[in-house]
Amino acid sequence: EVIEREIEAMLGLRDRREKDSELYKIANEVFDRTTRETLAYLHRRGKIEALYGVISTGKEANVFAGVDGDGNRIAVKIYRTYTTEFRRIWEYLAADPRVGYLPKDMRKLVFVWTRREFKNLQRAIKYAVRVPEPIIFRNNVLVMEFVGDELPAPRLKDVERELTREDFEELYDFTMSVIERLWKRGDMVHGDLSEYNILLHDAPVVIDWSQATVKRNRMSVELLKRDLRNVINYFGRKGVDVDDFDDKFRELIG
Ligand code: ADP
Ligand code: MN
Repeated sequence: EVIEREIEAMLGLRDRREKDSELYKIANEVFDRTTRETLAYLHRRGKIEALYGVISTGKEANVFAGVDGDGNRIAVKIYRTYTTEFRRIWEYLAADPRVGYLPKDMRKLVFVWTRREFKNLQRAIKYAVRVPEPIIFRNNVLVMEFVGDELPAPRLKDVERELTREDFEELYDFTMSVIERLWKRGDMVHGDLSEYNILLHDAPVVIDWSQATVKRNRMSVELLKRDLRNVINYFGRKGVDVDDFDDKFRELIG
């Protein structure tokens, strides 16, 4: 079939040894028919020339390293169309005033989730938050700028042992300024801001915007509290002279 050949070309599969690769195994396991068709479409449009590595496998999504038709490096986040996270995704989307009709079908709900992450990335950029530049989305596939050099940039969590007190202080200021700018200027909250969702490249980059939402969302204050608590606790443990949670919270809400 044409689509199968296209997918094999994208994965660079020519001989048997390549079929033993992790990339091939993950792709085989998680690319269902919709995903294959979506990838083939993006391939034809020159948005994804090839996928050449697995960056991350998660409950909700897998992230691949790839290259587009012009030779630019890209990161491709592919949401699972069958996820145990259905309930949570549904609840988060139902609370978001930007989201209208909620499909009953899990696959379509995941499409809405993917679209929302794309919109969140665009919105965050507007408020001068460093994020991977969103390039295109379709169905459950989100293509964005690759953050890294040869290898993907490490997460803060991965390199915390190599950092100094001053590094943590700078990163704390950065992270707190992101929370503040998003909330005050962007009417927005990330909702999962932690050492796992900050990549350290030339400068820190905030990733994973799927659960981010707007202030008007009835869950937004809870999400803001969560972000503040996680960030203050984490950097506090690293020896940073952090803000008091209640003070900071009141300052933002008041
Ligand atoms: P989730 O945590 O929901 O699985 P993330 O969006 O956090 O999804 O992505 C998972 C991992 O993939 C990240 O921790 C990071 O290591 C990597 N990653 C995500 N986006 C990019 C990107 N644009 N460039 C490089 N690596 C990325
Ligand atoms: Mn993440």
